[in-house]
Amino acid sequence: MNDHTNCLRCGRVLRSAKSIAAGYGPTCAAKVKVAAKAEIIATYKPYQIEKAEELIEQGGLIPLRGKRIFLAVSSDGTETYRTHRAACNCKAGLKGLHVCKHRIAAHILSLAA
Ligand SMILES: [Zn+2]
Ligand SMILES: [Zn+2]
Repeated sequence: MNDHTNCLRCGRVLRSAKSIAAGYGPTCAAKVKVAAKAEIIATYKPYQIEKAEELIEQGGLIPLRGKRIFLAVSSDGTETYRTHRAACNCKAGLKGLHVCKHRIAAHILSLAA
């Protein structure tokens, strides 16, 4: 991950290590988080978001590369899937009938930088 010396949103110089790692100052980080949440709510149904957040809380999504590709663990822990917000190789994901919770969780995590 790249370190940032200036805020990605407003361009102000970042001082704390946390801000430098995140790429945003505290005020902008909060605004970005709210915008990310709004994007998720506008994109998915509430029950889908709930399942995705549950997955994240259980540590069921492990970042592999940056915050874009994730390793998702199946509910019974016997299988793992590769997940990106646009694709997932779990059964539901491969059928492509609906967006699986892994993809939604990947989307949430990729926005919550
Ligand atoms: Zn800023
Ligand atoms: Zn999936």
